[in-house]
Amino acid sequence: MSPRYNRRRVQGDPELGPGAFGGPEQVVEWAGEDWVVRRISGSASTKAYRCPGCDQEIRPATPHIVAWPVEAGRGLEDRRHWHSACWDARERRYRR
Ligand SMILES: [Zn+2]
Repeated sequence: MSPRYNRRRVQGDPELGPGAFGGPEQVVEWAGEDWVVRRISGSASTKAYRCPGCDQEIRPATPHIVAWPVEAGRGLEDRRHWHSACWDARERRYRR
């Protein structure tokens, strides 16, 4: 039997190494771009971030989402941290 490919298109980021964020990543298409999305566990979240969906702080130890564009997202500054609910509702909430 030949190995089956996983349905997820991205298995991991070799620059970050496995487990850098403590969760699997997915690629989703949004706003005409492909975004790498990872779910961050509360224990892995040690800083406060500003959510672009609601412009509120994501407190440390809050499980949330980090997303970055596949094409451009090579640096930490390209990462966006979102509340899980805001990411799920990004079509409605995100203001450009
Ligand atoms: Zn939010």
